[in-house]
Amino acid sequence: MDYLPLFLALRNTDCLVVGGGEVAVRKIRLLLQAGAQIRVVAPRIDNALKEWADNGDISLHLKAFAASDIAAAQLIIAATNDRSINSDIAAAAGARHRLCNVVDDRELSTAIMPGIVDRSPVIIAVSTCGTSPVLATQLRQRIDASLPANFGKLAGWADSWRAKVREHISDSKQRLQFWQTTLDSDIATQVLSGNQHSADEKVQQKLAGIETTKGIAWLVGAGPGDPELLTLKALRRIQTADVIVHDRLVAPQILTHARKDADKISVGKQNGVEGITQTEINSLLVKLVRQGKRVCRLKGGDPFIFGRGGEELAALNAAGIDCEVVPGITAAAGCAAAAGIPLTHRNVARSVTFVTGQTSAGQEPDWQQLVHKDQTLVMYMSLRQLETTCRQLIAAGRTADCPVVLIENGTTSQQRSFSSTLAELAADTSAHKVQSPALLIIGDVAALSNVQDLPLAVSNQAGEQPWLPVANSPTNLSL
Ligand code: SAH
Repeated sequence: MDYLPLFLALRNTDCLVVGGGEVAVRKIRLLLQAGAQIRVVAPRIDNALKEWADNGDISLHLKAFAASDIAAAQLIIAATNDRSINSDIAAAAGARHRLCNVVDDRELSTAIMPGIVDRSPVIIAVSTCGTSPVLATQLRQRIDASLPANFGKLAGWADSWRAKVREHISDSKQRLQFWQTTLDSDIATQVLSGNQHSADEKVQQKLAGIETTKGIAWLVGAGPGDPELLTLKALRRIQTADVIVHDRLVAPQILTHARKDADKISVGKQNGVEGITQTEINSLLVKLVRQGKRVCRLKGGDPFIFGRGGEELAALNAAGIDCEVVPGITAAAGCAAAAGIPLTHRNVARSVTFVTGQTSAGQEPDWQQLVHKDQTLVMYMSLRQLETTCRQLIAAGRTADCPVVLIENGTTSQQRSFSSTLAELAADTSAHKVQSPALLIIGDVAALSNVQDLPLAVSNQAGEQPWLPVANSPTNLSL
């Protein structure tokens, strides 16, 4: 972070603006809104400035800038169209250790102006640190459009209850939870639509019943890796939770959405390296909810697809705890999209089957059920038994040249994928050291992929292996 955002209290504070043109007018308008005492130094001025001076809103000095003009100014804005004068102003301000903004010149500035969304007392400042003013403007416009015009009213209303809530709820975590649920409820909607009286009544009732606050559990799917593939509901649960119990597959960027004070507990299980057992995870969830916490059990993909979510739900229910399940995009859907493979496709695949490649002895799938010509087979956790899987599928009747695509770290920036055939896959995979998580798609739809055959493939970013990054390849639906 090259700049620290700060909000300056400028009411009745001496500020100097050097320059009398349009740019100066824009900055002075902002300083006036902040209640600053403004001195303007400029040899010539815009009409708007004259009006402000006549009204006594600013004091005007029709002259060239001199270092002594800095005087007591706490903030100096250089808004002339002459860089050498701007540079003198910045130097004079610097010599006196005052903040100086040189408009559109971050090299000379010790303070830069953000884009502002003003819903006072809610003020949002947006900056790209001078790298892309257009992006900052677009972002500001998006935020502006997403907030009701009277949004500030909500903050004012919350302020009017703060002392009372603090008096009533002494525990700071519980107080935080109270505010989070209140501001995310119909109480907030009522304030914004002018029904303050009814909102006050409701919050009073809520305070009266606060002692009964119970813990809660959410079983949430985090999607296949790309944080953009999180659902809005999942995001909201992650943002609200007191504690997040997450798998190894959950991307670190997703966890950054959690509250800063939320506990994050990793219960990652890696293929072959079992840390915490499933029974221990179940007990942990029950224990946390009983402590009154809002627990977000965050799992890769969808919680109910090879995620043992069913077992966790059953354990919570058996302990008398209700649990909301928030679905996620499962790896099959995410990886297929990333590789340009439609899992079903007219005249090519009429059904799709999700199957796990991790089976213990005696639990092998019924291979005959998995080899229909017009069926797509998606195999999760396929790496350990890859050779056996391919051999069994061929033995059961799938052709040796049946197209397959293997996708490692699908939907993430580290995604690698390639296409092969059932007969050649195992050798190709070990040659290219494919790591978990990897997903295997088997069937004629795999030939529609935008991943090309290995011999044609180009190197990935590291330049070591002949993988073809999927994202830039055209989708081929010509089959
Ligand atoms: N509940 C998860 C699956 C958990 S099982 C879901 O719905 O997606 C873990 C397996 O999912 C991995 O071994 C791998 O086969 C697959 N997987 C999960 N994320 C993946 C990804 N980003 N890329 C490829 N495979 C993935």
